[in-house]
Amino acid sequence: MDASVIPIDTQMIGLDLVTSAYLLRGDEPALVETGPTTSSVPVTEGLDRLGIGPADLAHVVVTHIHLDHAGGVGTLAKRYPGATIWVHERGAPHMVDPTRLVSSTARVYGEETTRAYFGDVEPVPAGRVRAVGDGDVIPLGGRSLDVVYTPGHASHHVALVDSQTGGVFVGDALGIHLPDVKVLRPATPPPDVDVEVAVRSVERIRERARSVLFLSHYGEVPEVDAMCDLSIVRIRGWADVVSAALRSSKELDEIARLLEERGTADTLEDVGPGADMTRYDMLSSYEVNAAGLIRYWRKRWEREAQAANASTP
Ligand SMILES: [Zn+2]
Repeated sequence: MDASVIPIDTQMIGLDLVTSAYLLRGDEPALVETGPTTSSVPVTEGLDRLGIGPADLAHVVVTHIHLDHAGGVGTLAKRYPGATIWVHERGAPHMVDPTRLVSSTARVYGEETTRAYFGDVEPVPAGRVRAVGDGDVIPLGGRSLDVVYTPGHASHHVALVDSQTGGVFVGDALGIHLPDVKVLRPATPPPDVDVEVAVRSVERIRERARSVLFLSHYGEVPEVDAMCDLSIVRIRGWADVVSAALRSSKELDEIARLLEERGTADTLEDVGPGADMTRYDMLSSYEVNAAGLIRYWRKRWEREAQAANASTP
């Protein structure tokens, strides 16, 4: 680990090694990802331990606005009044007014889980937010982060290339890979997962990574090519399972079960029998992943049907 990038365990849902924030040392200390609001105490304590007090944090940067990555931004913005908040332009409005973000999260996870996992989401004052897009550079004093637009998992997802280490903060673009389990599982939640767009984003990340990948779930991965290859195989494999099931008119719960069979085979392939996948299931259930891929195929088939109609004379 380069000592200029330091992981801070957000202890999301009280669990170790599920969701990471990262402190980037430098003239203008920056936090990449915050975890949910319910993680603001562990994150604040982590920053305190690293010598970053309320007046010191200069930037908060998020890969995307899903609440396990950015839900805590509003709360931390109060604690660190000098910090500028950087987020993709499609996500920025939802940082300022999180109402729709919270209600769409509740549609995916249910009201109860949403409240338990993420807590109350506080808005960020508009004047603190800087919206960024592909190719922008976020200056952090002596180092910077290049913004690479990487939709697929979410339409407002970016990866961030660190000038100092050559590492890339990849958010959820490659999926979930917890360091004590070492299984890679796709993350395909509704509403905007797009498989082929996600594959292109993985290739963009591969091109830009000069050293390691920093996953939000969780930690540093030096095997860039192997991880990128596997993530493409996995997301396409999962998408194929759902496509085949939809063609034979299966319903959500049955499709989730088929995806679980596939996930179990993936787990065996990665680490053999006996892996404890509980934290993966809590973070990203088969049902949520199935719902995302069902929506993806239905939208895609509709698009293709419209295009076919349009081209018929
Ligand atoms: Zn996400």
